[in-house]
Amino acid sequence: SMNRSRVDAASRVKVSVRVRPPFSDEIQAADNFYLTVNVPEAKIEGKFGNVILGRPNSDKQRSFVFDHTFSPATSQAEIYSVIAEPIVSDVLRGVNGTIFAYGQTGTGKTYTMGILEAIASDDRSDASSKQGLVPRALTQIFEHEPEAGFAMEVTMSFIQIYCETIQDLLAPDGDGGAADASSVASSNLQIREDPRKGFYVQGLSEYKIGTYKEAESLINLGLENRAMAPTLMNTTSSRSHTVLTVKVAYSGGTRTRTGKLLLVDLAGSERIRRTTSSGVRLSEARSINASLSALGNVITALAVGNKHVPFRDSKLTRLLQDSIGGTSSTALIATVGPAPVNEAESLSTMTFAERCM
Ligand code: ADP
Ligand code: MG
Repeated sequence: SMNRSRVDAASRVKVSVRVRPPFSDEIQAADNFYLTVNVPEAKIEGKFGNVILGRPNSDKQRSFVFDHTFSPATSQAEIYSVIAEPIVSDVLRGVNGTIFAYGQTGTGKTYTMGILEAIASDDRSDASSKQGLVPRALTQIFEHEPEAGFAMEVTMSFIQIYCETIQDLLAPDGDGGAADASSVASSNLQIREDPRKGFYVQGLSEYKIGTYKEAESLINLGLENRAMAPTLMNTTSSRSHTVLTVKVAYSGGTRTRTGKLLLVDLAGSERIRRTTSSGVRLSEARSINASLSALGNVITALAVGNKHVPFRDSKLTRLLQDSIGGTSSTALIATVGPAPVNEAESLSTMTFAERCM
């Protein structure tokens, strides 16, 4: 709300909303649509857009203001240049950066991130218009020329967090990572704190990558593992958080500088009705709920400049400890669906997103 004291604009989370284009079976009479996306050319209240939720003239109409709003017509390239490109540039300067996709299942989180299926490979020119943030970020990183006298080393890890367990997508059977890794260990990794290294995931496999192609094969391996590995396939991607971490380290002479980029495709934010779910589905839902509210609480605490930031409340937020807040650059892209049936979830998504600003 307005009277909270906000930390300076540069260090807060940039929040945007993206509306998915309607599927053919969602296209109905125009007056059935409940969303109006306004994208002003100049900033209003310091922001580049607002979304009006609710039909015109209905008394339940609400307006939300965000840093940026992206209508269904927005291209992947535009989302990249507005949201991700500046963050990746920071990472290349040694500043940590994180991009989240938050929203109801089916609204375009994974599409926006660009790791829906195997990521676009050979025909980069043809596939490029649909490429999401991940392949574009990797392209920017590998096109970057380090300053003279510096060597650049890129490493990558790829995990999912399912019901508060951290699972290594690149070592599903415990064949990577720590020496003591077993299949149990690699599907339930622990976060440790080290005075020198800071926070890290014990036993996580990290691969050095020299080219875009190598990065792409690793991601595809992770996606394949998620679909096939017995220890991982107990979940669909919408029920887990997926975190791709790309570390860029420069060294030259005695100096080293590392920037870490986290690309986070969050579990679906939709409410599961208690009356129609039970057992595993219900405990998944509770766990997702708890970790998404922990994320919201952390971002809000950072936004208002609270001394205490409740990072410890979930695995996800513990993992993010050195990647959000402080000097790091963070963006949250909230995705919503265009159909009237999405209205209640979109209200809840925008309420969450608004709290993060
Ligand atoms: P989520 O990850 O939020 O569950 P997905 O990214 O899987 O949602 O998107 C659901 C479907 O909508 C997919 O078939 C995806 O290709 C399509 N889709 C999502 N966003 C867009 C978009 N901006 N343009 C075109 N298709 C999209
Ligand atoms: Mg998804």
